[in-house]
Amino acid sequence: MVFAKDNDWSREMVIAVASGKGGTGKTTIAVGLALSLGNTEFLDCDVEEPNAHIFLKPKITLTEWVNIPVPKVNEDRCSYCGKCAQVCAYNAMAVVKERVLVFTGLCHGCGGCKLLCPEDAIEEVNRPIGVLQKGKAGSILFTHGKLNVGEALAVPLVRAVKRASLENRSHNNQVTIIDVPPGTSCPVIESVKGSDFCLLATEPTPFGLNDLVLAVEVLKKLKIPFGVIINRADVGDNKVDEYCQDEKIPILMQIPLDRDIAIAYSKGTPLTEAKPAYKKDFLKLYKKIEELTGG
Ligand code: SF4
Ligand code: SF4
Repeated sequence: MVFAKDNDWSREMVIAVASGKGGTGKTTIAVGLALSLGNTEFLDCDVEEPNAHIFLKPKITLTEWVNIPVPKVNEDRCSYCGKCAQVCAYNAMAVVKERVLVFTGLCHGCGGCKLLCPEDAIEEVNRPIGVLQKGKAGSILFTHGKLNVGEALAVPLVRAVKRASLENRSHNNQVTIIDVPPGTSCPVIESVKGSDFCLLATEPTPFGLNDLVLAVEVLKKLKIPFGVIINRADVGDNKVDEYCQDEKIPILMQIPLDRDIAIAYSKGTPLTEAKPAYKKDFLKLYKKIEELTGG
C-alpha cells in the first residue's frame, strides 16, 4: 500500500478504536492515530462520556439536538383497547382503568404503537436525548454526541453521529476514526458496525484479558477484522500476549507505562504532542492495518 503523502490516502478506510473496558487508553490511541494521519474524520461515539474533544480541541460549528419520537395519546380518540401496551417490547406503555400511561424514558421510538393503534389515537412527539456537535480541529473533521445526563438510550445518538459521517463523505477525508464506547453492549456494536478494522485497546492484567476476550467474541460475530494494542505494556502479566498468540490475533502496538504520558493525558495534551516520536508508530500502525485489510 502506497503512502504518497501523510495526508494523501489511497482509499477510504473506517477504523474503530474499542476496548472491552474503560481506562485502557482507547481515546489516546484514537486521537494519536487521527493526528498522525492528518486529514481524517473523527467520530467520538462514546456518547456517555465523550472526551476526544478535550485533546483535539475542535472549533465547533454546529450543535443540534438529537430526538427520538415518543408516543402522545389523544384520549378523546382512545378506546383503551390495550394494543399499544401489548405491542411495546419495552414496556413503555400501560393501559389501566381507562388511562394510557406512557413511560417515555423506556420508549425506543420504534413507532410500533402508533402503527398498530386501531383508533389513530397516537401521535409522535420529539424527546431530546442529547446533542450532536460538529466542527474542525485543523485538518480533522470532528463529530461527537453528548448524551443527556441520566439518559439510557445511547444507540440513537450513536446512529446520529454516524449519519453525520455520511454527510461528511462529500469532503475529501478518506480515513474515518471512530472512538467506540467501552464494553460490549449495544452502543458498542452500533459504533463498530460497518468498520473496516477495529483496534482493541487493552492492558496486560486479568481484567484487561477478561474484557478483551469478550470484545474479541463480539468482533468475530460481526466479522470485523481486528488487532490489539497493549497499553501500559510493561506492567501486569503476559497472559494477554499468550492469549493473542493462541488466537492468532496480531498485537499491532505496545505503549509502555510512562509518567509523562499520564501527565499529558491529565492536561488534555495528545500523546503525539507530548511525545512526537509516537507519530511514526501510529503511521506504522496504519500501514499494518492496511496490510491486514488487504489494502
Ligand atoms: S392502541 Fe390506541 S386506542 Fe388502543 S389503548 Fe392504545 S392508544 Fe388507545
Ligand atoms: S414507540 Fe415503540 S418503544 Fe415507544 S412506546 Fe411505542 S411501541 Fe413502545
